[in-house]
Parts: sequence; C-alpha cells; structure tokens
Amino acid sequence: MHEQPSSELNTKPTVAFAHIGCEKNLVDTEHMLGLLSQAGYRVSSNESEANVVVVNTCSFIQDAREESVRKLVQLASQEKEIIISGCLAQHFSDELLESLPQAKATVGTGDYQHIVDVLKRVELGERVKKVSLTPTFVGDENLPRYRTTGDAVAYLKVAEGCDYRCAFCIIPKLRGDQRSRSIESIVSEARLLAQQGIKELILISQITTNYGLDIYGKPKLAELLFALGEVDIPWIRVHYAYPTGLSKKVLNAFKEVPNVLPYLDLPLQHSHPDVLRAMNRPWQADVNDSVLDRIRDQLPEAVLRTTLIVGFPGETETQFDHLADFVQRQQFDHLGVFTFSQEEGTAAAALPNQIDAEIAQARKDKLMSIQQPIAESRNMRFIGRTVDVLIETRDLETGEMTGRCARFAPEVDGIVRLKSQDKTRTPMVGNIVPVLITGADLYDLTGELV
Ligand code: SF4
Repeated sequence: MHEQPSSELNTKPTVAFAHIGCEKNLVDTEHMLGLLSQAGYRVSSNESEANVVVVNTCSFIQDAREESVRKLVQLASQEKEIIISGCLAQHFSDELLESLPQAKATVGTGDYQHIVDVLKRVELGERVKKVSLTPTFVGDENLPRYRTTGDAVAYLKVAEGCDYRCAFCIIPKLRGDQRSRSIESIVSEARLLAQQGIKELILISQITTNYGLDIYGKPKLAELLFALGEVDIPWIRVHYAYPTGLSKKVLNAFKEVPNVLPYLDLPLQHSHPDVLRAMNRPWQADVNDSVLDRIRDQLPEAVLRTTLIVGFPGETETQFDHLADFVQRQQFDHLGVFTFSQEEGTAAAALPNQIDAEIAQARKDKLMSIQQPIAESRNMRFIGRTVDVLIETRDLETGEMTGRCARFAPEVDGIVRLKSQDKTRTPMVGNIVPVLITGADLYDLTGELV
C-alpha cells in the first residue's frame, strides 16, 4: 500500500484495511483503497498507525465468519474505529452495530463505492448503516482501484452475484442476483491492466460460464474470451466454470484464443445425481462425466481443478463411495474438499439427516488420501518438459526464485521453485521465462532456467 506525502492529508485520518475472504471480495477492497486514496486519505498497511480500520469481511461459512469476528474483536480491543464492509456487514449489519461500539459504520456488498462518503460521515461523529437490502452494483473500469496482488497478476471481476440457488450456499443472499459488465467494459479494463504490465489476468465472478446471460439474454463467455484475445496480456485464466456452461463453443474459445490458459476450475461439489439434485444443482446431475470427457476431447492438455463438498445432509455411504470412485476415475490435477457447513438461511440447513461432523471429516480425509498420489503423478508428468513460468519471488542473496506455470493458479495451487542461479542472469520478478522441470512432489514443481 502506498503513503501520500501531502500537507493537505494531515487533516484526514489514516485508514488501514483488513481483508478477509475470496478474491471477489479482494477486488472490492482494492476499489475502496483506490477511492480513499483518490479522495486524499492516507492509506497504510499498518493497522497500529491507523485511526480507522476498514475490515472487508467474509460470511460464506462459519469458519470465515469466525475469522472476521476475531479480527473485529482484536481491533475493538485496541480501541480502533472500525468500518465493517463486505459479506458479514451485509448479513448482520444491525447486530454488528448494536454489539460493537467501535463499529462506526457497516457497508454492504453493493455499497462499497460509497466508502468515502461513509468515512466523511463517520468523521463527523455519525454511525452509518449503508447496506442495500438487494445489492445491484458492480464496479467497473471507471472506479479507481489500487491493486494489492503485485505487479504481474490482477483479478478482473466480469460479473457479480448469482442467479442459482444451490441449497448449501448463502452467496445469492449476500451478493444478490447476477449482473454482468459489458464486453466493452471488461476489455477496456483489461487494456488498462495490460498498459500497467499485467502478465496474468484472472477472470472471476460467481459463475463465469454464465457471464452475460443477464444483459445479453445468453451466456457470452466465448465472445468475451475472443475479445480478450486481442489484449496484450500473455495469460488469461478463468475461474468458477459451472460444468453445464462448458459448451463446445466455450471450450473452442479456450482452445483457439492463444492467451487463454487451458486451465479449468469447475466447482463440481459432488458426483452422485441424487446429492446434486438435493443440492439444487439438477442440471449438473447427469452431465459430470460427459462434460469432463468433452473437455479432454477438445483440450487434451487441460489442467482440471475442482472442489467438492462431503457430508451434505442425507449423503449415504453409497453416495459417498460414488464420489470416491469419481475422484479416482477422473484424475483431477487439483482438488479441494470441504465438509458441509450448515448455514442458517440456506435451504440445506433445514434438511433432515444432517451428517455427523466426524463422519464428514473422515470422508474428506478419505478423498484427500485418494487424491494425493493422483496429484503427485499429475505433477511428475512434467519432469523433463520445458514450461513457461511467471517469476514471482527472487532472493537477491541466493538467486533462488519461485513462480507459477499455467497449471498453478495463485493462492490455491502449487508453485515452481527455481534452484539458485548465477545472480547476473536471473530474470526479474514479473517476467515469464522458459523453465526445464527437473523435479515434482505432491504440490510443487522444481526446475531450472533454460
Ligand atoms: S452457483 Fe456458486 S455462488 Fe451460485 S448459488 Fe451455487 S454455489 Fe453459490
């Protein structure tokens, strides 16, 4: 984060940010940072020197809520003035303002664009609730943004909200229905990011395969990818593909647009048709295997990541075994497994036959033990190959570097470690360079510069 030397700033409070949650929330944090900087506030990464701390919270599951609340309690005990934004503020605005005297304002998920106005009112002594009941806003390229993900990587939110109603998911309640940005708006932001030297652009939303449905009457991800193919950014990665949206046309765009990485992140959640129907994902119930076959047919080199939920109410041993067989058969490159979290306000919370937490954890452990040798052997296939690696860290003393190749998304997957090099010829952070892979383990690859 930056600090601004200006005498005019002396009268304004210093603001720090605490961020919790997903990368969609992170983009909102970055917009708030940009707005406050533009308005002349001094923004610091150091909470202890700030007068006001904006906590952009998460409320997706119980664990995330607890993390958010721990942060709020810690700041309250330090007598900081707190502005609570994000999903927890959307979810529990009144409770937060009532129970936490240090909470000076709550800002909803569709209201963060008003952060400067909210802060001004807080400075005047007001307690502010700025939470739209139904969030409808989505930020675009005209909203100032201060990126926090380094010089080479940027997230780009193509849509906000979700029109689906998966039984376990609170997101539509917290973020509203889907609203997409236009292709022109997204391309315009991508061009700005290209000018800033971004090498990897990651497209995000709740369901990126549904991009455009609300404004164009049909999904337009393929058209968007072709349009982004004209932008000078070497890697474009797509997150959150709903399997039924991976039509031939979309997969063709993955294949034909040279800067779109063949990396498919498909949160499948389960394999058994009855569990998927109970999850209110009926369209997916009969297509899992056929979609994966189609992907492998059209994109033989595709890297596949998925996330699954175990312990959904009523999940029988037989249904779990179906899922375990699916994981064994499909040989995903990357797998995340979550135990079901009973979220008040979701349809699944009220379902009978809730699964004991210990059973859910044992099922999670079993899936991970199936996946571990698969992940390792998927990584091992790269030994001896030369791949492009985006350099992300470089130790000036030892010359050791780390980076990522196309098969690794930031934060969730592994990294590529490069052995120490002749320091005079190590590439700069932010460059994409060819690397010969010489080793692999369960998570990461090792290699040397070619
Ligand atoms: S598609 Fe994703 S965001 Fe939408 S309701 Fe289902 S799990 Fe939640």
